[in-house]
Formats: sequence, C-alpha cells, structure tokens
Amino acid sequence: MPEAKNIAVVGAGPGGYAAAFLAADLGMTVTLIDPEVNPGGVCLYRGCIPSKALLHIAKLIEEAEQAKNWGIDFAAPKIDLARLRSFKEGVVKKLTGGLGILSKQRKVTYIQGRAAFENSNTLQVTKADGSTQSLSFDRIILATGSRPSIVPTLKLDTPRMMDSTGALDLEDIPGTLLVVGGGYIGLELGSVYAALGTKVTVVEMLPGLLPGADRDLVLPLHKRLEKLFESILLNTTVAAVRDEGNGIRATLKAQDGTTQEKVFDRVLVSVGRKPNSEISGLDKTLAKVGPKGFIEVNKQLQTADPGIYAIGDVVGEPMLAHKAMHEGRTAVEAIAGHKVAFEPAAIPAVVFTDPEVAWAGMTETQAQKENIEVKVAKFPWAASGRAATLDRTEGLTKLLIDPQTERVLGVGITGVGAGDMIAEGVLAIEMAALAKDIALTIHPHPTLSETVMESAEVFFGTSTDIYRPKRG
Ligand SMILES: Cc1cc2nc3c(=O)[nH]c(=O)nc-3n(C[C@H](O)[C@H](O)[C@H](O)COP(=O)(O)OP(=O)(O)OC[C@H]3O[C@@H](n4cnc5c(N)ncnc54)[C@H](O)[C@@H]3O)c2cc1C
Repeated sequence: MPEAKNIAVVGAGPGGYAAAFLAADLGMTVTLIDPEVNPGGVCLYRGCIPSKALLHIAKLIEEAEQAKNWGIDFAAPKIDLARLRSFKEGVVKKLTGGLGILSKQRKVTYIQGRAAFENSNTLQVTKADGSTQSLSFDRIILATGSRPSIVPTLKLDTPRMMDSTGALDLEDIPGTLLVVGGGYIGLELGSVYAALGTKVTVVEMLPGLLPGADRDLVLPLHKRLEKLFESILLNTTVAAVRDEGNGIRATLKAQDGTTQEKVFDRVLVSVGRKPNSEISGLDKTLAKVGPKGFIEVNKQLQTADPGIYAIGDVVGEPMLAHKAMHEGRTAVEAIAGHKVAFEPAAIPAVVFTDPEVAWAGMTETQAQKENIEVKVAKFPWAASGRAATLDRTEGLTKLLIDPQTERVLGVGITGVGAGDMIAEGVLAIEMAALAKDIALTIHPHPTLSETVMESAEVFFGTSTDIYRPKRG
C-alpha cells in the first residue's frame, strides 16, 4: 500500500466531515464529496439538528402550559409556522455554513456531487452540474450514512405520507397524525406535532415504546406521552393505508387480531433506517456488505479492501452521530499509521423527548438476557431537590454495578436534561469507575447531576435523601 497522502471521504455527515477535517489536520490532502452544498449530512440537514430545534420549541410550549400550576397563565400560543420553520432552517444553515467555512480553512477540496467506484482507488464523481470527473486516491473512506426504511404496504404517493425528512419540513400543522413506530424518531417528532396542537396517535408493533431501553426508564416518558398524545397503541401494526383524498385511512391491527380503521390527516412512517451501502461500483472492489446491508469493517474501520475504510451509519448500529464521528477519527488515525481501534466501552443513546431518556453501557434488559449478575441502584427524582424546584420529579437515575468488583457497568437516566447528564455515566464506564468513585465525587447542589451520586449512595445503602428501613 502506498503511504496515505491523498484521501477521499464519500459523504459529509458527522462521520465524513469529522474524518475529512482530522485527516487535513494530520497533513493529508483531502477531497470530501457529498450531494449537499455544504457538509452536514443527515444529522445537520434532516436529523439531529432540525429535530432538536423543533423539540426546543415544543418544550417551551409545554412548559408554558405547565406554568398554570405555578400561578402563571400564559395565553394560548399563536404559532407563525413560517417563522418557526425559518428559525429551524436558520439553525441548519448556520451550522452547515460553518462547516463549509471550516472545510475551506483546512483546504479540504469539497465537491458537491455523488461518488461511484471505478475500482478500489478510483472514484467517478458526478457533480451537481451533471459533469463527471475521475479521481484517484491512496485511501477512500465511505461515510454514506443511512435513509429511512420503507414499508411496502405503507407506500402511497401522497404528501400526506411522510418519513422523518417530510415531517421535519413541517408543511402544516395537521389536525391528526398517525406515527408508525414508537422508536426515538417517532416519539421525538410526534412530540413536536403534539405540542403544536396535532392529535397524535402512535402505533408500535412491540409491547413497549423505545425497544432497547430499560422499561423502568421508559415508564415516566410513557406516562407523560399518554397525556400529550391522543393515544399510544402497543402490540399493534398498521396493516394497510388508503388515500381517501381528504385523509389517509389506516387499518390498525392489534395482536389479538382485532382491527380498527381510522382516518388521519398525515402519517409519519418511522420504523427504522437502512444503510446506504448500495454505492455504485462497490462490487468492483473487495469491500463486502453483510446480510443486514452494513459494510463490513474491522476495528480500524477498514473494509475487506485494504484501501477502503467505512464509518458511521453505513457500518452498523447504533446509528448515531457521535458514533459516526468517533469512527471517523479512528479510521483516519489508522490510515495515518497510529495504533488505534474502535472499541468503546459505552456509546450513549439519548431520546430527546420530554422527559429525556438516556442510557450508556449495559442495560438491565441486556444483563437479564445474557445472564449477567448485576446490582441495580436506583435514585428516584422524587427525592431530588432540584427536580422539585423544576416541578419535574418523575425522573429516575440508575446504575448497574458489578457485585464483585463494584465497577459501574451501565447508567440509565430519565428526566429533564438526561441527555446532558449521561456523559458523566459514559465517562464513569470508560474510566472503569467504581460505585465508590461516583459516591465520593462531590456534585454541585442543587442539581440533577446529584442523582448520579445519590444512586451510587443507594448502592451502598448510605443515601441520606431517601429512607429504606433496614431489613430483619
Ligand atoms: C430525524 C432524525 C433525528 C436524529 N437525531 C439524532 C440525534 O439526536 N442524535 C444522534 O446521534 N443521531 C441522530 N440521528 C441519526 C444521525 O443523523 C445519524 O446517525 C448520522 O447522521 C450518521 O452520520 P453518517 O456520517 O454516518 O452519515 P449521514 O449523516 O447519513 O451522511 C451521509 C451523507 O453521505 C451522502 N452520500 C450518500 N451516498 C453518497 C455518494 N455515493 N456520494 C456522495 N455522497 C453520498 C448522503 O447524501 C449524506 O449527506 C437522527 C436521525 C434522524 C433521521
């Protein structure tokens, strides 16, 4: 293999741009290729960032409503949808424009276009203006991301049927919305529409929302969403949809076989995402695609073709931006000859609903499934002073601890700000912290972060903020 001086990154999402920028910082000549005018990918253009801007607005509306309990009556919100959209679009433009500037400052050659393989080290790039160019590189990093999964039975050619991208466009505030899939994207976007006044129905095939998260973490969210949404139907599938001109008639089928039909103004299908591994000409290389459509890589993110690396959503779960970014860094460092491997002890997952749900490392469900003995210490936010001042005591912080070594194996948090707080849990797991380390770390008062320390105290039976009578 030649020394890696000249590299290409295909796809400029969080994985691709992070890889490209680091490679430039390490002295490589970098070409970054993506169909958008600036770097950003799904996360910035139609994922993490626009959804969080809208969720911020949703939270504000909900808090204004809750303020009634505190003696403050706000008038019903008047929503100027055009301005609301322009706030969201402004955030996206600012961030992607910023990445464009950072790219230029690093002298990365940014090509707006699509890449296809001619062979293992040559790409044919079709630019936005239709022209094509053949370019050769020492190494190529694929960061082509993912797209919404399509369910053939839920395919109708009408703007009333939306995927996450369509839902983020927020063309109107429909009277009713059916959300198909109770995963994080469905619940986040459903929360936005519900806060804006839409009657939202969520249908989930499995017995609970957010499959993958521990049930005790989901419960406080489920309870709050029951109030926010029109209905949550578990163990239910959408058997058929029909366009009736003035709405979509959906046949909802429960596990016991009973069906009901309902008409919705719009339907959001959020049943998962598919990796973009069908890259034209990839079959002319040695890179392999696995049975689930992910490009196969080793711990250095190198594919079976030694000159080709792949990172982010296209190589596997969890399909999250922070995983993509870290993989991007690892791939570039491996290309630069550093001794690195992508083997994190924990990758945090955050659901940015209200309350937020966040977890990292081992989950209780996983421990049970894999027969791993763990001690679970939970601190209910009802005992948190800070949660009381926010009038949000429904939360919960829990630690999964190895009973022998007392090492922290997993952390789960549900509540306001859980997404920010989980970082402490990730650090604890990565640093192989013991429960005692967390208990002895002085946390500022009054903050929600204290609940992490308090849950460690619960493990030792020394939490002074809750009372547990001694057994026997
Ligand atoms: C509604 C929504 C909300 C989300 N919220 C969060 C969140 O809060 N936190 C989080 O961590 N993750 C979130 N995600 C997931 C997150 O967006 C992805 O995990 C992340 O964007 C993956 O980054 P990536 O670099 O792998 O690829 P992507 O961001 O998917 O970018 C891939 C890029 O490659 C381009 N591309 C594809 N093929 C080619 C080709 N042949 N040539 C050139 N370019 C190509 C694509 O057009 C795209 O721009 C969300 C996703 C959605 C849809």
